[in-house]
Amino acid sequence: MVLHSISLPPGEYGGDAIEQLFTNRLDWDAHPYFSSIRGLRVSAHFLVRRDGSTLQFVSCDQRAWHAGRSVWRGCEDCNHYSIGIELEGLEGSVFEPAQYRQLARLLRALAARYPIEEAVGHEDVAPGRKFDPGAGFDWHGLRRQLRRLRPALPRARR
Ligand SMILES: [Zn+2]
Repeated sequence: MVLHSISLPPGEYGGDAIEQLFTNRLDWDAHPYFSSIRGLRVSAHFLVRRDGSTLQFVSCDQRAWHAGRSVWRGCEDCNHYSIGIELEGLEGSVFEPAQYRQLARLLRALAARYPIEEAVGHEDVAPGRKFDPGAGFDWHGLRRQLRRLRPALPRARR
C-alpha cells in the first residue's frame, strides 16, 4: 500500500479538482497552478478526503498510475504491485483524525482481500524524488488505529 497526499490547488481542500485530475477532466486553465501540471496523467485507487469520505477511481485488480519511478525492497515499479491511496492534504502538513480512521478501515478491508504486507509512503518508494505524505503524516497514529482493529493488519512501516 502506498500512501500519498494531494490537494488541488495545493493547500485548498474540498473542491472537486482532484476527482477531475484523476478522471482526466481537469480544466488546466481553471486555476494558475493547474497550468503547471498541464497534461499530467495520474490516478490512484482511492482518495480519502479531509472528512474521511472516500472515493475509488480504479479497481484494485487494475494498475493505477500513482507511484511513478519507484522501488520497494528491491522490486521496481510499485504501480505493478501496489494499491495507491491519496489523502487530501498538503505534503508535510497534518491530516485529520477522520482520515486516519477511514484509512485504517480501508487498509483492513483491503488486507482481508489482498496479500498486503505493508503500508509505506510515496517518499519511501521514491526517495529524493517524492516527499509525500511527508513529515506531517502521523505513522504512530495510523499504527494505533490499526492496532484497534482486528485483525491488526497491515503493518504501518514506521
Ligand atoms: Zn505521491
